[in-house]
Amino acid sequence: STAWNNYLQQLKRVEPFLDESIRDRLDFLRHPKRSLIVDIPVEMDDGSIQHFEGFRVQHSLARGPGKGGVRFHPNVDLNEVMALSAWMTIKCAALNLPFGGAKGGVRVDPSKLSKRELERLTRRYAAEINLIIGPQKDIPAPDVGTTPQIMAWMMDTFSMNAGNTITGVVTGKPVHLGGSLGRARATGRGVFVTGSEVAKNIGLDVKTAKVCVQGFGNVGSEAALLFHEHGSKVVCVQDHSATLYQENGIDIPKLMAYQQQNKGSIQGFSSSDEIEKDQFWNIAAEIFIPAALENVITEEIARNIQTKLILEGANGPTLASAEDILMSRDITVVPDVICNAGGVTVSYFEWVQDLASYFWTEDEINQRMDKIMREAISDVWQKASQNQCSLRTAAYILACERILIARIERGIYPG
Ligand code: NAD
Repeated sequence: STAWNNYLQQLKRVEPFLDESIRDRLDFLRHPKRSLIVDIPVEMDDGSIQHFEGFRVQHSLARGPGKGGVRFHPNVDLNEVMALSAWMTIKCAALNLPFGGAKGGVRVDPSKLSKRELERLTRRYAAEINLIIGPQKDIPAPDVGTTPQIMAWMMDTFSMNAGNTITGVVTGKPVHLGGSLGRARATGRGVFVTGSEVAKNIGLDVKTAKVCVQGFGNVGSEAALLFHEHGSKVVCVQDHSATLYQENGIDIPKLMAYQQQNKGSIQGFSSSDEIEKDQFWNIAAEIFIPAALENVITEEIARNIQTKLILEGANGPTLASAEDILMSRDITVVPDVICNAGGVTVSYFEWVQDLASYFWTEDEINQRMDKIMREAISDVWQKASQNQCSLRTAAYILACERILIARIERGIYPG
């Protein structure tokens, strides 16, 4: 199953719940508005030239400029970027942010490039998609394999071409360059905020919960840290290099410090045991947080997993068919489009601050984010109870209503 196909399956589950007046417009969400594929020639440090394939997909611009991250990863392809862009459309609408959905990516393993090569690749990619991005058109941000430094290079390239500094063209920038306080930690924070709200609703005490986290990057490490700080035992952490287990809970601050000095990998951390990769989903724990890549929770895992709550830090980690099984087993899934939306919410704040050239304190940012996230999860929870559907389908209902009503009100050009 591909990510795009999984997205289509998710849409199908929403269809019966939509009012007749908008249901026949759902096809708009099955067709990305604009997909750009670019060739990125890069002069490598040894003088050779390598070609990389890059993408930017604008799935929907019905509610405002495109918004969505840029992924640098060896598995990036058009199908994946299409799905990720569609999830951004749904996410921005579910949170009621004034954006459409977009996503970008380059098929590359950034860990194999030198810093100079990475900069050349980033700048050429930014130049190639220059035509379709901009603060009023489409605003990229970080995702897997991209960083604030990479956003700074994208902003600089766009600004050099325009002839003036335009900080609002990307978010997730360094704080000195028009970045927002709180942005780096926002996605993981949102996972904790929405996760603990839903935990309360299902009678689960975060203070005594065992937690397993897959992915220890921007999202996974911050989510793990917050659960750790609130008394949960993070018993298992997996990244691309290793799967660590510690029955009494892994010391997350210590693991983060270790990772920093170990080239971003957690392998070899001595205060826990290393277990087989496949054992990850067999551990019994109240909360699982997939925070790496998509399509990891298959039907087989859904049938066997021993847990109560799954928090989707990653985009698209659960197959639609697997989610049906989880639902029948009474396992609650907080869907990506709400769970990991803390990132895009603070990206929205960053964009607003850049446009106004007036910057907020970290407290203001966190409070405003908490309010938006708590309201969103509460609306979604209510919608799910009313319709007896999953939280994902509930979020999709709210989002599809907003997008399709906007679509109808705008009409089709030319009229
Ligand atoms: P990242 O590059 O910072 O970290 C990715 C992590 O996943 C790393 O720890 C890596 O080792 C791990 N990983 C990679 N392949 C793996 C594998 N096969 N098995 C286990 N672990 C593996 O990326 P990130 O920004 O933390 O993004 C993670 C997920 O969260 C993605 O699905 C992304 O789309 C989503 N997301 C990110 C943001 C954001 O603000 N960064 C916002 C919303 C959603």
